[in-house]
Amino acid sequence: MNAIEVRDLHKSYGSLEAVSGVSFEVAMGEVFCLLGPNGAGKTTTVEILEGYRTRERGAVSVLGIDPAHGSRELRERIGIVLQSCGIQTSLTVAELIEMYGRYYEHRRGVDELIEMVELDAKRDTRASDLSGGQRRRLDLALALVGEPELLFLDEPTTGFDPAARRHAWSTIRALCQLGKTVFLTTHFMDEAQTLADRVAVMRAGAIVAVDTPRALGGRELRPSTIRFELPDAKAAEQLPPVEGEVMADGRSIAVRTHDTVRATAAITGWALERGIELEHFSVTQPTLEDIYLELTGEHEAAPA
Ligand code: ATP
Repeated sequence: MNAIEVRDLHKSYGSLEAVSGVSFEVAMGEVFCLLGPNGAGKTTTVEILEGYRTRERGAVSVLGIDPAHGSRELRERIGIVLQSCGIQTSLTVAELIEMYGRYYEHRRGVDELIEMVELDAKRDTRASDLSGGQRRRLDLALALVGEPELLFLDEPTTGFDPAARRHAWSTIRALCQLGKTVFLTTHFMDEAQTLADRVAVMRAGAIVAVDTPRALGGRELRPSTIRFELPDAKAAEQLPPVEGEVMADGRSIAVRTHDTVRATAAITGWALERGIELEHFSVTQPTLEDIYLELTGEHEAAPA
């Protein structure tokens, strides 16, 4: 059984079709990431899966349950980190975790959760006195309190400092090793790249691509770019022949090629033989962000 199955999902707000014919599935134990620009329909889709919004058309199954019915049974088995959720901020971290735990038959211990999200030093601090990133970490602890089989993480690391983000990633990875399924939305491409088994890109209510981060949009098949600077523009004329397209802008050279290893060897071998310094030498492939911007039609709006 898949953890999530969605077939031909539709949802409109008045005349606006926010979700128009979305289909996908998420396997048990998978980290599935939904990407898309603001207003693409991600939150609408996720909240239908969580049972917080109704749908017009389509079939939805979450852990074998239709979230439009039976949402109580579902709540016992899923954990949710929303972008903003109304918790009683006059209570302390430990009190809130303790209180939320009471809703669940199976629950994780307060100490274990506090340690998991690294809030040990803030155990007795009121939620109102936590920083933005610490609040998000508390949200994650609250989502995990009921030992969920499936976790919905809506932009889980927004507002985190770099170290806290890395820590959150390893917490999420550790959860996956326990066999949990994670449904993630994020605007951070490095987060999707690091965590997701598969990513889906949503644009204007439709899914335009689903694949592994590595293969999305034919990424693996795209040419790579070798860049470097020569000591002077004249040297550019003596470059060895390479497969691909060579673009010279004065001393700056960019080579787009599918034959990366051979082209790199030809250029570096040529330079070493002649004692030519290649400054700022790099070999890059299109990033997940490049592909994402292309798929969402935003690459023209975003300067290179
Ligand atoms: P973001 O990345 O900004 O969170 P999103 O992909 O989650 O965006 P949604 O929140 O699903 O996008 O919104 C999709 C579209 O539906 C938007 O145009 C939004 O304005 C509209 N919309 C969302 N909720 C409602 C609502 N309750 N009433 C009317 N329109 C809504």
